Amino acid sequence: MEVYLDNNATTMVDPLVLEEMKPFFCDIYGNPNSLHKFGSGTHPKMIEAFHYLYEGINAKDEDDIIITGNATESNNTVLKGIWIDKILNGNKNHIITSEVEHPSITAVCKFLETQGVEVTYLKVDNDGILEAKNVQEAIKENTALVSIMWANNETGKIFPIKEIGQICRDNKIAFHTDATQAIGKISVDVQDCNIDYLTFSAHKFHGPKGVGGLYVRKTCELSPLLHGGEQMGGHRAGTVDVACMVGMGLAMKLATSANALAFEHDHVEKLRDCLENAILQIPETIIIGGKNNRTPNTTLISIRGVEGESMLWDLNQKGIGASTGSACASEDLEANPVMNAFGSDSELAHTGIRLSLSRFNTKEQIDYTIDVIKNAVARLRKISSSYASAPENHVSQL
Ligand code: PMP
Repeated sequence: MEVYLDNNATTMVDPLVLEEMKPFFCDIYGNPNSLHKFGSGTHPKMIEAFHYLYEGINAKDEDDIIITGNATESNNTVLKGIWIDKILNGNKNHIITSEVEHPSITAVCKFLETQGVEVTYLKVDNDGILEAKNVQEAIKENTALVSIMWANNETGKIFPIKEIGQICRDNKIAFHTDATQAIGKISVDVQDCNIDYLTFSAHKFHGPKGVGGLYVRKTCELSPLLHGGEQMGGHRAGTVDVACMVGMGLAMKLATSANALAFEHDHVEKLRDCLENAILQIPETIIIGGKNNRTPNTTLISIRGVEGESMLWDLNQKGIGASTGSACASEDLEANPVMNAFGSDSELAHTGIRLSLSRFNTKEQIDYTIDVIKNAVARLRKISSSYASAPENHVSQL
């Protein structure tokens, strides 16, 4: 059996989305900026896609959604745009973010620090939660931007975005949230949460790779990252990938409808809990960050005595795809930085396995995965020198 449990890294394109995209490779291939009928022939579906994107996050007609290449580009656009507008050409010099953001935020912040920008990296507590009051306390007179993710890619932990949005609004500070892991899993509403900039990426909600979006509130102009032609109203130069944009629009509609979100709760969350509870029956296993306040599809589990990489190998042999953490960092074998940030001890930090489900997973797949994991734990603990030699583990444990 094949089981894909790495949906926080990327998702399968929904077959309906693929069908929607196909005509744009051969039949409707004009450049949307051309004035002839080949160009304008792309417009109806692009307008429809914009409509679905606006509706999916409850944006207002007068706000902007810029189509980008991915969430990484959206995040870079916000941070570097704010740097140009409010720091280089303004009187602010401070950005607030968290220590558990995706590298497409933290690496840009590190770069901005080399340019003289002051960055505060807020800590999360042992449950991986960041409290809104920490944002309030970190605000200074010269704070230009607060950038806090909506949901964490490793743990699924959901941050208090509504409270943070209110704090930023009260203090007249621009607020960006990276909602890449939230869209399609929980309700995301830019009005309700006072969000000025919001990042999303189609391939995390069963759309194609290579396309993302950046919501920009009407009153929050931003210098572009890419200069060139007048595409996207001058906010992002370059010919848009029409097929991908159309696919992203439908993917957003399918992922954010009331029915879809109810399915995440009724089906995906139940499967995740079933998998998690079965693994927790194995002695010395813990959920990193605990069970509260998470997206319905994610669990990050530590199994003492079992290296994350070894477990991935065993799972892969049996047709199961999982991860030890973010795919963007998976080529280095450093301990998972998010787990370190949570204060996990260093052994635990090497034993994390992230299992992230989607609406396409089935109960049969989960039952199969439980069996495979139990067998893998038994095998790997038996050959683990550190686990086997600990006196408390001399009684054989699953
Ligand atoms: N932000 C978060 C929270 C993510 O999980 C990811 C992908 N792992 C990204 C940004 C980057 O997404 P993309 O691949 O679309 O650039």
